[in-house]
Amino acid sequence: MPEINYGRLLDEKLRELEKNGEKPSLLLHACCAPCSSHTLDFLNRRFEITLYFCNPNIAPEEEYDFRLSELKRLVQEMKLDVKIVEETYDPTSFTELAKGLEALPERGERCRKCIACRLKKAGEKAKELKCDYFTTTLTISPHKDCKFINECGAEISAECGVAYLFSDFKKHDGYKHSIELSRQYNLYRQNYCGCIYSKINSQKENK
Ligand code: SF4
Repeated sequence: MPEINYGRLLDEKLRELEKNGEKPSLLLHACCAPCSSHTLDFLNRRFEITLYFCNPNIAPEEEYDFRLSELKRLVQEMKLDVKIVEETYDPTSFTELAKGLEALPERGERCRKCIACRLKKAGEKAKELKCDYFTTTLTISPHKDCKFINECGAEISAECGVAYLFSDFKKHDGYKHSIELSRQYNLYRQNYCGCIYSKINSQKENK
């Protein structure tokens, strides 16, 4: 079967909304400020956005707090009329989910579970807040499996009844633009994905 071009699906959806003069509500799961920078810039004119910070994977807690504070600063400095909904930090839920998978490399089963758990929460939150769509900033990362993220989003959409906005935010030089915006806003760009296992891996690689 040919690969689905998720960037093109997003472009088609945006054209359709523009043609119909619609600006629907969107719950945008945000993993961090750098990944949110281009994504917000790209989507802000087309959607009423609520950012959803739900990342129990991030460790240690100071790192979690700092990534969240950077996201808040970004929204303020970009002068966006965007609300941020913070999920209660629950690192034990991630530790449970990652049990037995700690030593796996990135893009393996631990990451699939980590992404699926955050997307599920995003779908549920979108339903609770009566949003028209939900999606995640995660597809901007060249290190993440874009196909998996989108397939997972579609499955959760079928369960929660909220439309999933397919995406590949790397398209239109999105990743490059996120680096430029990170420089412009002097954002903290972490050198590991989020969990303690990715931090250990990154430290090993740096050695
Ligand atoms: S490496 Fe990233 S995606 Fe994978 S489990 Fe850790 S935090 Fe989640």
